Amino acid sequence: MNDFAREFPDRLRAAGVVGAGGAGFPAYVKASGKAEYVLVNAAECEPLLKKDQKLLEYHPQKVFDGLELMMRSTGASKGILGIKKKHEKIIKRLEEIARARKNVSVSLLGDYYPAGDEQCLVYDITGRLAPMGGIPLDVGCVVSNVETLYNAALSYKKPVTEKYITVTGAVKTPCTIKVPVGITYAEAIEIAGGLKIKYAAGIDGGPMMGKVITDFGTLVNKTSGGLIVLPKDHPLILKKAMGRPAFSRIGRSVCDQCSFCTELCPRYLLGHSIQPHRAMRSLLFSGGGRKVHSEYALLCCECSLCSLYSCPEGLSPRDVCVAAKSDLREIKVGFKNSALNLNPAAAAHPVREERKVPVSKLIKRLGLDDYNVDAPYLEHEYKPRRVRIQLSQHIGVPCSPIVGPGRNVKKGDVVGDLPADRLGCPVHASIDGKVSKINDKYVEIEA
Ligand code: SF4
Ligand code: SF4
Repeated sequence: MNDFAREFPDRLRAAGVVGAGGAGFPAYVKASGKAEYVLVNAAECEPLLKKDQKLLEYHPQKVFDGLELMMRSTGASKGILGIKKKHEKIIKRLEEIARARKNVSVSLLGDYYPAGDEQCLVYDITGRLAPMGGIPLDVGCVVSNVETLYNAALSYKKPVTEKYITVTGAVKTPCTIKVPVGITYAEAIEIAGGLKIKYAAGIDGGPMMGKVITDFGTLVNKTSGGLIVLPKDHPLILKKAMGRPAFSRIGRSVCDQCSFCTELCPRYLLGHSIQPHRAMRSLLFSGGGRKVHSEYALLCCECSLCSLYSCPEGLSPRDVCVAAKSDLREIKVGFKNSALNLNPAAAAHPVREERKVPVSKLIKRLGLDDYNVDAPYLEHEYKPRRVRIQLSQHIGVPCSPIVGPGRNVKKGDVVGDLPADRLGCPVHASIDGKVSKINDKYVEIEA
């Protein structure tokens, strides 16, 4: 291992760089692996979100810098940025930048959902099929989000204290903005001109994988992708907010086992043993407090395509799979010790290409046509009076506060940390100010 491969992951950890595309996986772990390819996930396939496109439009060199650093650290000989070919305007520039560098290129993807699922991305760009229950590194690939690589390139100068988010939907000025970590979505909505409607709810993240929020006091953290504001009674909000008793009861009585959910499932189409219709079937046996769940749920990547697009009855196979995985975890059944692990993935489905779901159709199905507008980058400098820095903004062990109330901090100071041998990254003050409150969730700083 060369000196850079030892030093760079430490730099990423100290700067608090984590997966900015929603997962929050600490970037230093990926930088510590050995790979042949580093892939930039610029698919941004969640409808309405634009922040990766805007970052590539305004800071493409930085993203490629991050890609090259990640390639050096992992020993990868090829770096490929995967972006949908519909983004013609920025692609020309990206290809120019790639040509001026060594061993990096741009790969064009179709406009389907979920093109950014990392196993789909690896297969579409390299033709390599990650094993069931495995990760891209199993086939020599590291996949990183656009903003993660941007943050990696900046990690020598400053830690992660700012976040790019798209604020769109029923707001007056849909936009993409850079804001300090730890502000609220209510503040982000104000930057976007305020609400256009009276009774609003939001989706924190994309419409497919994001979570419904009714409290706009929810904090922006290092993994936030954006906020989609919709009327409280929008069918997407109602569907996503449905609880387990309701989706289980309805699923049990309505599912006719047509198996459309399985036939269009992106992981099934990669040849994986995921069959959501079988998970639905298990509902018939799990009433009355009993938990009988199908192991066919175990390989679900929670993309929501089955629930929000495929099922003709409007049922929620994704939520049933998520619930099944949780129940199976309780009895210590995971993919590795399940019966599914006996059959290795053979090959992608022969009609995978024909079954890919176009994003335009998906937007229509989600009832989001009226909100499908650009969210241009809005240049502004927002100076909040207060931020709350969450202690858990990554996969792994939450941080513990390392500052006390009354302490003066500068932007970039570490305010929460964890032992070096635990999975996770420190968190940093995003403004200058005084620590005004600490609890087990966040460190509050007032300017
Ligand atoms: S698509 Fe819907 S109705 Fe058909 S099997 Fe799946 S959950 Fe049941
Ligand atoms: S959410 Fe549905 S479509 Fe997506 S991986 Fe899971 S089962 Fe397949």
